[in-house]
Amino acid sequence: MQANYHTHTRWCKHGTGEIEDYIEEAIRKGLTEIAITEHVPHKDNLDPRRIQWEEFPAYDQALNEAVKRYEGKIRVIKGFECEYYPEVLNAYQMFMEKYGYNLLILGQHRSGKKREIDNFADKSVYEMEVYADEICRGIETGLFHFVAHPDLALQGYPKGWDAECERIMRKIFSKCEEYALPVEINANALGDRRAYPSENAFRISKEYNLEYLINSDAHRPEDLCGESVKEAEAFARKLNISVMDYLTIS
Ligand SMILES: [Zn+2]
Ligand SMILES: [Zn+2]
Repeated sequence: MQANYHTHTRWCKHGTGEIEDYIEEAIRKGLTEIAITEHVPHKDNLDPRRIQWEEFPAYDQALNEAVKRYEGKIRVIKGFECEYYPEVLNAYQMFMEKYGYNLLILGQHRSGKKREIDNFADKSVYEMEVYADEICRGIETGLFHFVAHPDLALQGYPKGWDAECERIMRKIFSKCEEYALPVEINANALGDRRAYPSENAFRISKEYNLEYLINSDAHRPEDLCGESVKEAEAFARKLNISVMDYLTIS
């Protein structure tokens, strides 16, 4: 691994470590690029497990200082992991244009008009369908650089892999192909033995013309480029999936 484009910190309140701790770890592990991609703040602060809206200035300042401090040692990219919620896209635009968040990841953790669906929770086909449709709408905005854990909604579906899962994942992969959006193999989830990343899902993904990247999705500095990344690399090798080393971010 030469670059990691999905990194959290203690600022999301369910991670540990300062921004600098992750950058130091990245340098130690020989990475040349790291994107710090906290869960994006939302004005309504409905989710307490992320940067709260009024904390953004302090977070942004800390991140800017880190970018500056490590200049010439490692490229630090400012990014956010974002849900597709149609009513907040203007805020995402603002983070990009006004504050230089040049990497927006699409990671759909909650779904539904009132975000009533927890995509990690037990679910039926209906919730998977809502998830897939929102991912597709998100991709169509053109705002995002890749799809994090595209198969997250398989988590909590009691029947395991079946024709419905396949249909839903095909929707997502064909949209990624249409918009040339890379898909992530999420090392953190693989290490956690969740239902995703799913071998079945990634096996059918190969029928589409897709680019792939492996990310740590680290929530602890020591997880950055750790054992789970080696597992993700083995996962890709087993499925004969070639993974890109770098994303192009202007
Ligand atoms: Zn997180
Ligand atoms: Zn995520």
